[in-house]
Amino acid sequence: MSTQTAGRRTRRPETKLWRVPVVRVERVTPRLARVTVGGGELADFVSAGTDQNVMLYFYPDDAELPEPLTLESARAMWSRVRPLTRTYTIRRHDPDANEIDFDFVLHDAAGPASDWAKAARPGDRLIFVGPSPAYRPDPTADWHLLAGDETALPAIAAILDVLPADAVVRVFAEVEDAAEELALPTPVTWVHRSAGDALAGAVAAADLPPGRMDAWLAGERSSMVELRAHLLDERGFDRRAVRPTTYWRRGEAGG
Ligand SMILES: Cc1cc2nc3c(=O)[nH]c(=O)nc-3n(C[C@H](O)[C@H](O)[C@H](O)COP(=O)(O)OP(=O)(O)OC[C@H]3O[C@@H](n4cnc5c(N)ncnc54)[C@H](O)[C@@H]3O)c2cc1C
Repeated sequence: MSTQTAGRRTRRPETKLWRVPVVRVERVTPRLARVTVGGGELADFVSAGTDQNVMLYFYPDDAELPEPLTLESARAMWSRVRPLTRTYTIRRHDPDANEIDFDFVLHDAAGPASDWAKAARPGDRLIFVGPSPAYRPDPTADWHLLAGDETALPAIAAILDVLPADAVVRVFAEVEDAAEELALPTPVTWVHRSAGDALAGAVAAADLPPGRMDAWLAGERSSMVELRAHLLDERGFDRRAVRPTTYWRRGEAGG
């Protein structure tokens, strides 16, 4: 399955390594931590928007990092120390305050990113490389389908921020239970995993608008396989419009 969502993407902004202190940590829901990093280090960060993401670098605690730590100096020591990497979405970039928010799903299985976010405190440093290019919604589409699980909600929220107010949009989000629902500017069909419900089933049960669809879909791999099969085989959508992105795989570490 594609790891690039279908459709137009912005040009790649300059890729840099950023090492930025944590300024706030907020538990948005029981299983979601919003980590805000900020400071002068971000003064020349150029946002690509919507689903732009970065590669987080997690070094062993005892790693001796070069000064300055740049993409080049980090790569130069890869034969000795190589970080674990995980991909995360920029939920919000505020260029006036020089802040970036990341929303981390705090899952039960151990993993460097989720574990780091569970313990994150102001003053900790987050190292990341990016940003990536970003998805651009198709302005000529009749309607937009946005669907994913909680790892996709930062991107879905950022895409909703750029869609015109009169855009026809349907949002489906699979989360653990009602406590994980987030406030979004558009009505959302929430799907509760704890109740045995799944994304593809919710989309299958819905009345979808007529006309040409533009879709942005991301989440756990098997859920994306099921959703893609429904949209292509049962709904008959054009396969060029249905290219989900695998954000994670159950039982497998990312990176
Ligand atoms: C482009 C892109 C953008 C992403 N944006 C975000 C984002 O903004 N926020 C976010 O939280 N995630 C996001 N993800 C998903 C995130 O990268 C993965 O969930 C990643 O595996 C988490 O790393 P980890 O170190 O916590 O766990 P890992 O070491 O990768 O995995 C350890 C174990 O945890 C399980 N696991 C991993 N993720 C989850 C999960 N979400 N729920 C339940 N079990 C899980 C794995 O299956 C494995 O068994 C994004 C992924 C991509 C590709």
